[in-house]
Amino acid sequence: MDGRPYFISVEEARTICNATLLSPGVEHLPLDRCTGRVLAEDLPSKVYDPPFDNSAMDGFACKFNPDASYPLSLNIIGLQAASGHNENRAVGAGEAVRIMTGAPMPPGADAILPIERCDVDGDTVRLLDAPKPHFVRKKGENLRRGDVALAQGQHLTPSRVGLCATMGHATVPVYRQFNVGIVSTGDELKTPGQTLDHGEIYESNSFGLAGLVEWAGHVPVRLPSVADSMDALRQTLNEAASKCDLILTSGGVSMGEFDYVRRLMEEEGDIHFWRMKIRPGSPPLFGLWNTTPLFGLPGNPVSSHVVFRMLVAPYLRACLGTDAPMEWKIRAKLCDPVKSTSDCVTLRRVTLVSTDEGMMAHQPRHQGSGNIESLASADALTLLQPGQSGEVGSWIDVLVL
Ligand code: AMP
Ligand code: MG
Repeated sequence: MDGRPYFISVEEARTICNATLLSPGVEHLPLDRCTGRVLAEDLPSKVYDPPFDNSAMDGFACKFNPDASYPLSLNIIGLQAASGHNENRAVGAGEAVRIMTGAPMPPGADAILPIERCDVDGDTVRLLDAPKPHFVRKKGENLRRGDVALAQGQHLTPSRVGLCATMGHATVPVYRQFNVGIVSTGDELKTPGQTLDHGEIYESNSFGLAGLVEWAGHVPVRLPSVADSMDALRQTLNEAASKCDLILTSGGVSMGEFDYVRRLMEEEGDIHFWRMKIRPGSPPLFGLWNTTPLFGLPGNPVSSHVVFRMLVAPYLRACLGTDAPMEWKIRAKLCDPVKSTSDCVTLRRVTLVSTDEGMMAHQPRHQGSGNIESLASADALTLLQPGQSGEVGSWIDVLVL
């Protein structure tokens, strides 16, 4: 680590990670498998939307006559449904066509009156008000053929998947998901379900991190947790590197006697930085194991989660050139004092209550970085910048969890 700065800022850490981005592959997926994925190319519309002038209402279509007075009686000359099999009879003066929502406008008609404002009597309809031209949805008013309505890097939300279909795409190019290996380390860790001996705890980080990887849109690969030994760790990192694009480890990155992730990365890997100015979560490292990028996350459960949100999630977004999943930063007023620090970004767990005055942030829990319950019951993390006051009444940024 000689010559490398200790405790760099979050921005510096992100810049260093971004110098070693992964390049995602591209796959073409049918629409019913692409929700949540990221678009790999700009997507132009293959059609006009709507493809033809059509009615926005169930009602009657006719030609608008600026000189008419209402009520106005018209002869019903046909029926136009949203089926495509219509007579398409031209509508002349004194005539109307019964029309359904989405049905093509009959030739000659340019206005619609909703059925609620019409009295029908046999072949005659009495319009109680003037028909409205704006109830006609014009061809191409939403999109024209060739318009790029979705751009590379956009996250495919359900409405965007609907838009892909509207534009006529049966499959879309999306980035392949990364396989993210998750390795937890520590002699004291037992898998939930096993019996704990004195001194042991249940291994929780790999499950939480797997959830975060899925939340970020990728595929978690949880490996069995590793004892605190250089050989066991080396073997597991080699296995993870052989089948994954990215490795996350938890634990073993501090100054402890058995912090072998840091030692192994120092001696046999390539560390790009170690330690960052955030609290909790200051000891993360980033580097390469063989050629695979590796984030060494802290072992404390809250810390590993927080560092994922502050470092790994932005890295994964940067790899795909996307802003998803979005980082929701909002302003909130502190209702309890939060201890900030002079040199670190302070990420305390708060609950949020929406009020007429805005969002109120409360800190009801003991904030130890080993206290996963305090994270599980929180809505957000404070984003107190180094030196920023965390006194009651201050308006601060919070990161919604
Ligand atoms: P370490 O960074 O390895 O010193 O771990 C810091 C703290 O986090 C210790 O109290 C560990 O027992 C705990 N810890 C480490 N890894 C895990 C894990 N996978 N699940 C739950 N707690 C962990
Ligand atoms: Mg440990």
